[in-house]
Amino acid sequence: MAESIDKQARIQVIGDPIEELPTSIDRVDQWDIYKYPSVLVNVEPARQDEILLKIRSDELRRLQPVFCVSRSKMSDVLSDGYLEQMRHRIPSIIEKLSLLHKTPHPEPLDLLAWYCWPRSHFHLTPVWSAIYQKGYRYPLLDCLVGIEANLALMRAVEHHLLLPGKLIDRIRLCRNCQSGRLNYVDVCPECNSIDIHLKPGVHCFVCGYVDDQDVFIQSGVMKCPKCSTKLRHIGVDYDRPLERYSCYSCYIRFIEAVVKARCHDCGEVQSPDDLTVSTISEFQVGKLARQIALEGSHLLHLPLAWGAPITVDHLPWLLQWTSSNQNRYGGDNTVMLIWLSNLSEVKIDLGLLRVQERLKELVKRMQGIFRETDVVCQYSDDILILLLPHTSERVWEALRDRIASLSEVEGLDKLEVVVQVQALPVPEGKKAEDWLKEWISTVTHYDGDVS
Ligand SMILES: [Zn+2]
Ligand SMILES: [Zn+2]
Ligand SMILES: [Zn+2]
Repeated sequence: MAESIDKQARIQVIGDPIEELPTSIDRVDQWDIYKYPSVLVNVEPARQDEILLKIRSDELRRLQPVFCVSRSKMSDVLSDGYLEQMRHRIPSIIEKLSLLHKTPHPEPLDLLAWYCWPRSHFHLTPVWSAIYQKGYRYPLLDCLVGIEANLALMRAVEHHLLLPGKLIDRIRLCRNCQSGRLNYVDVCPECNSIDIHLKPGVHCFVCGYVDDQDVFIQSGVMKCPKCSTKLRHIGVDYDRPLERYSCYSCYIRFIEAVVKARCHDCGEVQSPDDLTVSTISEFQVGKLARQIALEGSHLLHLPLAWGAPITVDHLPWLLQWTSSNQNRYGGDNTVMLIWLSNLSEVKIDLGLLRVQERLKELVKRMQGIFRETDVVCQYSDDILILLLPHTSERVWEALRDRIASLSEVEGLDKLEVVVQVQALPVPEGKKAEDWLKEWISTVTHYDGDVS
């Protein structure tokens, strides 16, 4: 029995061999995934985490089934389970991995889909550690996509590749640098000094003087330092002021200290109410994962065959340059934004290949509307930015209507096309890049005027 599992699933052991799998290797780079598609890690916990991180970051081995004998900090988030789950999980992962439509140089979302779709047990789980600036991170994302992890997570959720699952925690972060390494400290409400002390005070009824009790005690007798009255009876000669605290920096007395959060990373001092609240969740596999896994990349490269296509990197420069020219020599120039507002839903409904087909058709029709001198840029998967030189308000109003009517054409009826225009120049003192970003975020969060 033991031998047949070995043959069928071909599992490589890293670390100490176990009874049913008697041969083993010592290092990740000795693991030949073509001979042994799966691996069982059997080492002490600290080394196990190192090995798991290495496997999931390794371009050749990162998607393979990985199991552990014992638990470690990272084993739940980076492995596929433990010895007892190994037998029934391996066959389905291996089978689905063989169905993946892989492309060279995958984009982060593609890679994520290739990883999570073959695993029916998949959960993207956060791990807390003091070394992480925010407190929590998703080690699997860090391994698979590296520095783009946060952005990739945001986009994966936006595109229904990952769905938020169980809520794990709610955290507060520095408003300035998003660090979770904060110290909550009570300070003087007047001067913000932390040098404050709980000190009993005395209020003299005769002259009204208030100060720390120490000041009133002279040779063991309580005597007002101002009017020299001996204070014998509380409630008759004196009482205790409500201000229990004393500040050693500005010497005021006060009732309650103020709590401030000081960021260990950037030094920003803020009130707890000003901290950024952020929720930390687990994530599950969403619908788009299947589409990407079986049909290839989720990125739709529009076949922009007309006008002068340029890349996103050059767009702000061009807008700035056109604006400067316009400021100096006059004329009319217009920027047009075309947003396919429900593209991610349509992708899930129709599948990537059919969406790509329809977009090709859409672009072909657009081609008939624009001129050779118009500049076109695929700003993102679902946004096109066009620069229409020498175009006045009257012309672009007409264009806008014609583009909006494109989606009424058969086969594109599900696609919602939002068209917005802005006249150049970019306002004085504003960077074209910021101006463009602001505009795009206003439009894409805007739910009126959907043509
Ligand atoms: Zn007094
Ligand atoms: Zn003070
Ligand atoms: Zn900070």
